This record gives sequence, C-alpha cells and structure tokens, in this order.
Amino acid sequence: MLLDYHMHLQPDGVEYRERQEGTWGAHGGPLSVDWMARYVERARSRAITEIAITEHVYRFAEVRDWHDDAFWREEATADADAYVQAVLDAKAAGLPVLLGVEMDWLPHRQEEIARFLEGRPFDVVLGSVHWLGALPVDNPGMPPMATNPPDEVWGRYLDELVAAARSGLYDVLAHPDLPKVFGHHAPPSAVERFDEVIAAIAATGVAIECSSAGLRKPVRELYPEPSLLQRFRAAGVPVTLASDAHRPEEVGEGFPTAVAAIRGAGYETLTRFSGRVQEQVPVVSWG
Ligand SMILES: [Zn+2]
Ligand SMILES: [Zn+2]
Repeated sequence: MLLDYHMHLQPDGVEYRERQEGTWGAHGGPLSVDWMARYVERARSRAITEIAITEHVYRFAEVRDWHDDAFWREEATADADAYVQAVLDAKAAGLPVLLGVEMDWLPHRQEEIARFLEGRPFDVVLGSVHWLGALPVDNPGMPPMATNPPDEVWGRYLDELVAAARSGLYDVLAHPDLPKVFGHHAPPSAVERFDEVIAAIAATGVAIECSSAGLRKPVRELYPEPSLLQRFRAAGVPVTLASDAHRPEEVGEGFPTAVAAIRGAGYETLTRFSGRVQEQVPVVSWG
C-alpha cells in the first residue's frame, strides 16, 4: 500500500495563509472534515490509501516560548487541542487519516517536547531539524550557507540529526538531508561522516522518510537522494513515504520518483503507524 505521512493543512507564513484563505474557507476552514477530505480525495487519485496530517508544532500558541526567533513567534497562533480534535473528528467520520505532528528538534526543549507529545493521542511524530540554534536550515529568506561555511552547517546539522534520533522523541526523521535544499550538496567533510551517522540512526530504531518535497525545492532532488537512501536501507533503517504537501494538490506529488527510489534502494516494505506503534507493509506501486 502507498502512504503519505507528511502534510500540512495550510501554507507556512502569515502572508501566504492570508492569500490561501479563500481556498479552505469555502470548505469550512482548514480544520474542517471537508478540507481534510480534499487531501484524502487527492491521495486516492494517486493510489494512496492512508495519509498522516502532520502540522508544524510551531503553529501552536502552546509552544510560542520554545524559540526566540521572530518567524517562530509570529507563526505560533493556532490551538493545538483544536487541531488534535479536528483530525480525530475526520478519523471518526471515516477518513483514512492519522494524527501526526512535525515536531522540531530543539535540544534545549526536550522536556517540553515530551510533555507536549505525552498528553495527546498522536499516531506518528516526525522529527525535523529546522534549526541549528538561532540559524534556520531551510528558510528561503535566510539561507544558512549565505552566512556560514557549508562544512560548518552540514557538520552541525548531522550532529543534531543524530541527537534527535537518540532522543527517543520521534518515530520518523523528516527530510534527512535538508541542508541541500538550496542546492548546497554535502561537502566531503559531511560525506565522510554519512556511514557513522546512518549507523547511529539505525541503532535507535527510528525510521526516515523518503520525501518528494525536495523535487519542488531549488535542489530538485528527493530527500534523501537515492544513493543515500540505499545506504539507510543497507543499515536496516525503516522508511516512510512523504510529500510534505501544504495544500491538497501536493499530496502524493512526485511519488512515482520516490517509489522508484525506495524500490531501487531495496526496500520491500513501508512503515505504517498507529498510536505510535509501527508495522511494515508491502510497497505496492501502480499497475
Ligand atoms: Zn520540515
Ligand atoms: Zn513539513
């Protein structure tokens, strides 16, 4: 079966959301069952049978104090429990949706992260390294390599990725080679650490996602790129499929490429979650 385990009900950024409001407004708002049904409809049209809604944790007012950055604070306006209830309502209405969250890795907030997760009935928790301290990894308005050497950005990123895996807070590591987003591929100093990083991740049992979102970004590649995916497979790291859609039309986008990479890497199964417990299900492609 095909799954899409990473998507958002709204675009990022106040300005973009204001521009899109009309789209979901007609359906009763971004938390309405009707709006989530649009995501399911698009999933089904692409042979995907189950989706996980994984809103950014930084959208929630409850976590406003976790980071000092202006973007983080500006985004933290939504109600986490209203979001949880909305996805549970969609489930109860019979839609094949899972309750997820894209949880930023903030090493100094591990207790708060654990508390946030414990109190809510999530099916799947994505771990994302979007921040290296105050430095954003994938903010197009502030590309990290514009002000920092690639060796340093990649080195710090890999350290944080391993720390996130080892924290035990996450089920899946999202977009594992994210620093390449604007086209800065891993320098030799990072490439020579890949085996050690992958072994450290494998030892924790956490899954990684194969994400088609990179195909829409300046780098125009899957996360992780196929040869890296193959190394994760060789180390025994489980995989999920993800589009990182921010609107219904993007659900399952680029999946033919992602599924080809997953199969080419030697994976025969995808990781499915329910109540944060994983099982392996056969990958089924079109045809
Ligand atoms: Zn992300
Ligand atoms: Zn995302």
